[in-house]
Amino acid sequence: MIKGIKIDSCGRCQHYHNENDIAALQCGQCLQYYACYKCHDQLCDHTFVAMKTHKTKPIMCGQCKNCLTYSQYQQYQCPYCQANFNSRCGLHKNIYFNFEC
Ligand SMILES: [Zn+2]
Ligand SMILES: [Zn+2]
Ligand SMILES: [Zn+2]
Repeated sequence: MIKGIKIDSCGRCQHYHNENDIAALQCGQCLQYYACYKCHDQLCDHTFVAMKTHKTKPIMCGQCKNCLTYSQYQQYQCPYCQANFNSRCGLHKNIYFNFEC
């Protein structure tokens, strides 16, 4: 289940709604999948906590709803349904992912 503001069936939200903006991100504190960190911060009582990338599946494909590891996500294409992800999301990776472990 993907949370967010005005999200459609593929997880696009009010903030990011291009054709390939369909990856949802998991918050390291509440462990819910959100369409983007802005949706999270508006709906939650805490700011988005970057998710560890080691042995986790911090991304959910908005099209097929399968959860992906960070390395799967790095291909910018879903290995299950072949949907393409927006590679510009890489600009926000320090918000979404914690690489320290
Ligand atoms: Zn949270
Ligand atoms: Zn959003
Ligand atoms: Zn998929």
